[in-house]
Amino acid sequence: MQKIGIIEDEKNISDMIKYNLEKEGYEVFTAYDGTEGLALIEKESLDLLLLDIMLPNIDGLEVCKKVRQKMEIPIIIISAKADEFDKVLALELGADDYVTKPFSIREVMARIKARLRRKIPELTVPEEGGDQLREGNLEMDLKKYEVSKNGEVIELTLREFELLKFLWQSKGEVFTREDLLTKVWGYEYYGDVRTVDVTIRRLREKIEDDASKASFVLTKRGVGYYFRG
Ligand code: CA
Repeated sequence: MQKIGIIEDEKNISDMIKYNLEKEGYEVFTAYDGTEGLALIEKESLDLLLLDIMLPNIDGLEVCKKVRQKMEIPIIIISAKADEFDKVLALELGADDYVTKPFSIREVMARIKARLRRKIPELTVPEEGGDQLREGNLEMDLKKYEVSKNGEVIELTLREFELLKFLWQSKGEVFTREDLLTKVWGYEYYGDVRTVDVTIRRLREKIEDDASKASFVLTKRGVGYYFRG
């Protein structure tokens, strides 16, 4: 059973979402402020998190940032703030999607399902060229969701893994940051493409011998990034 967390201080909204999710067979955990929310995330291994921005104690953006430092679960922000700045900030802090109140429960349910679905096909659909990618001393096992170098497993976040996989499977093809946001992050993005640069930098620190002289994920100056080949 998939576990969904709701961090929302408006009990009627929380109850309504919880009711609908339980009806569809999800296990639901609720928290009503930021502190309680962070405790919930520590305690349960959630498959998805619904997060309000205006929360008592610790606000949703701060919660989002803290969760992202630790794990890659999908986060959908639910907030009364239609403000563009908040939206961009939320996405930069690592949220995957954003729903503005008032919303219809149908819309929220659709977004939750879309997010949960997105993870599964990528794990099970056989990839062209098999489940293993190999380049020099670097290996990627698409089935095990594992990357290793010289036989040692490297811990990547889901996003880093997906970014590497995407570039690797299109070896030699250069992608702009905007391309990568659309294809790897998968949402319409109006904000800063620095998100891509930051993820590339972290990825290089993990997979390259020397992150300043990248040999796998390369920069095409003035254009974007590509996997060598
Ligand atoms: Ca609130």
